[in-house]
Amino acid sequence: ASHELRTPVAVIKSACEYAEKYGETPQEQQETLAMIHRQADRMTQLIQQLLSITRLEQGTEPAQREALDLAALVTGVCADQLYPKDRLACQVQPGVWVRGDRGLLARLLQNLIDNGFAYGKPQGHVWVTLGTEGDQAVLQVRDDGIGIPQDQQEKIWQRFYQVDPARREGLAMVKKIAQLHGGRITLDSTPGQGSTFALSLPLEKELFAP
Ligand code: ADP
Repeated sequence: ASHELRTPVAVIKSACEYAEKYGETPQEQQETLAMIHRQADRMTQLIQQLLSITRLEQGTEPAQREALDLAALVTGVCADQLYPKDRLACQVQPGVWVRGDRGLLARLLQNLIDNGFAYGKPQGHVWVTLGTEGDQAVLQVRDDGIGIPQDQQEKIWQRFYQVDPARREGLAMVKKIAQLHGGRITLDSTPGQGSTFALSLPLEKELFAP
């Protein structure tokens, strides 16, 4: 983690040193400030992710266990997306009830959608589907992106692992959230063709009791 934060700090420091030493023009100063701003945002994001994963691990961010309609949640998250509408498709079976934490499940889905675009091809697509299989709710996020080589597929779940450098920890959080809900997350990926992340969660049983 400290290593992660070192990069933006180093960039900010050298930008400042350069500006101090060479008396940049107002135009250059503006660019330097914008760059410092971006790096500071990156640090904020890293710190927030670190804090939330720590809180989850320590149980100080208590997960809610309310009965919720995953279909409504997924539809809501999809509706909030700013990605082009023709590149993101959501297909949701209505009324899929599970027990869990809205905020965390929304974060999980957001993370998978963001990854689908981040590791997609230019003009690539992401498909979100929600359905049921037996006593499980199944949420899938599929993309037609770069895919993940077989030998990397285990590693991506580790904190701060990235096939490319400059890392975050989205998938470690995704896995943690799945586990916290008694669920399972699996990956099916073909390099060059795309990836499918699938979350299975136990359906809320009380609602089916006769
Ligand atoms: P980050 O995206 O911030 O690096 P993640 O934990 O979300 O962190 O993902 C870990 C790594 O797994 C990514 O760096 C990337 O190499 C790989 N990855 C995740 N999602 C996908 C995807 N949909 N397609 C291809 N590679 C992916």
